[in-house]
Amino acid sequence: MKFLFSAPLGLLLCLAVGCSGPQTGEPAARAALEASAEAMGGWDALRGVRSQRIVSQGSDWEPLQAMAPGDPLQVTNFSSVLAVDFAQPSARIEYRSDILYPREFPNAFTEVIQGEVGLLDHNGAQSRLHPARYAARIRDIKRMPVRVLLTASEAPGLTRLPDETVDETSGGGAARQVLEYRDSGLQVRLRIDPATHLPASVAYFEDDPILGDTWNEVTWSDWKDVAGVQLPYSLKLHLNELLFHEETIQEIQNNPSLPDTAFSIPDAIRQTPEEGERIVSQWVPRRVVSNVTYLDFGRPQRVTFEELAPGFWLVGVASHQTYVIEMNDHLIAVEGPLYEERSQPVIQAIKEKFPTKPLRYMIATHWHLDHSGGLRAYAAEGVTIVGSPVTIPFLRTMFARPKTVHPDALARRTAAEGKLPEIPMEVVDSMKEFTDGTRVVRIYPVPTSHVRGFLSVYLPKERIIIEADLVSDTMYRNPPIVEPRALEYYEWLRQTGIPVDRIARVHGTVVPFREFASIVEKAR
Ligand SMILES: [Zn+2]
Repeated sequence: MKFLFSAPLGLLLCLAVGCSGPQTGEPAARAALEASAEAMGGWDALRGVRSQRIVSQGSDWEPLQAMAPGDPLQVTNFSSVLAVDFAQPSARIEYRSDILYPREFPNAFTEVIQGEVGLLDHNGAQSRLHPARYAARIRDIKRMPVRVLLTASEAPGLTRLPDETVDETSGGGAARQVLEYRDSGLQVRLRIDPATHLPASVAYFEDDPILGDTWNEVTWSDWKDVAGVQLPYSLKLHLNELLFHEETIQEIQNNPSLPDTAFSIPDAIRQTPEEGERIVSQWVPRRVVSNVTYLDFGRPQRVTFEELAPGFWLVGVASHQTYVIEMNDHLIAVEGPLYEERSQPVIQAIKEKFPTKPLRYMIATHWHLDHSGGLRAYAAEGVTIVGSPVTIPFLRTMFARPKTVHPDALARRTAAEGKLPEIPMEVVDSMKEFTDGTRVVRIYPVPTSHVRGFLSVYLPKERIIIEADLVSDTMYRNPPIVEPRALEYYEWLRQTGIPVDRIARVHGTVVPFREFASIVEKAR
């Protein structure tokens, strides 16, 4: 029975259904690494590249800031010069971009890393590099094409998994050898093209506040010889197959002569203590390229309360506010931004401040990444999440996503109950009113070019309206920059005739309506 099939028939069946896959395990991984190193020019050639200078240009994308979930949104065209010395490592990134969203303006920064210390120079202001930004850069250095095989060969947990066929986002239905190892405490998959033996992609399994478990994958193509080493001239970065970054390399120098000062960091920066955790997540680099704040990420949160009107509270935590409205026997909150680490201290502070009034509703203005990332924590508390017909389906998908890299309260409840808990949610597609007989709270859908499915929350007796992203700080500069979304919001308020005295913003301070109106009127 051993030779049931004649050899040709057996071979045909094996080709059709795959009788014996490739070997798996560590020796098979090392054999694949050997072949890949050979294809790139050999281990000696790879180790011989002690430093590099890479000039490139490309574009950054932020689909979680688009008009609707699933839409693409390009946020920059950039150019960068990277100098890196792999020994320590030391690195210098000179990044220049044209930011395209929400309006066009130039941006530039320089980052310097020398060993354990990072420096940021942004518009001439120098500061210690944020720990999560530092951690992401160090990870990116370790997965650079010239280093990735060396990183894999020295990494714990190196093994080979069964081969895969990748989909078109990574290269058109092609076979891949798959190696797995751990780096920066994260699971990593290195995929190798079996036809060329060149590395095809490297993916880190990391946490994202909204996307949850996220494969952060860099894919390489357009390989060329650079002084005896094969290197790619094109790369793309996907998070869970969504495109975030495209880069074309114009020039690569191996072992360039770099000035001594390239990696120097002033003593004042060295002596500034690093504040926060070195969390590896693409969330921070994404915020960086869009030139929006990320500074609270991985840092202690300080919660403050300010009573703007009797029973109407601003709960401040730096860049994004939450608002709390006292009803006779419960609370309504507006906006659960950022991430779990922001929401938990706010939830705790609300419970301590209002021990007899449970938080019953959380109203989400819109689904954008920094505005919806903290909502999972409220969902885990059983708070009813209120949102637009665009926001609620998006949240349903995100709440159901696994979060095992960095489990949060909802992930823990899901694990304990064996399934996703029933999360009460309410869709608001036309004006909705909450009242306890005394206090009235109205939710209005607002048309805006910023996002589809935006909600504004209005207190008629207090004549206060809550908004996010539409009335930005740029309006209060001299000269003011009035964006279309501010004009649209003003037009909507005029057309609806809703009387407003104050605008309570999710970003920034509460502003008088009269001042907002006068700035907009001048810009019209
Ligand atoms: Zn937004």
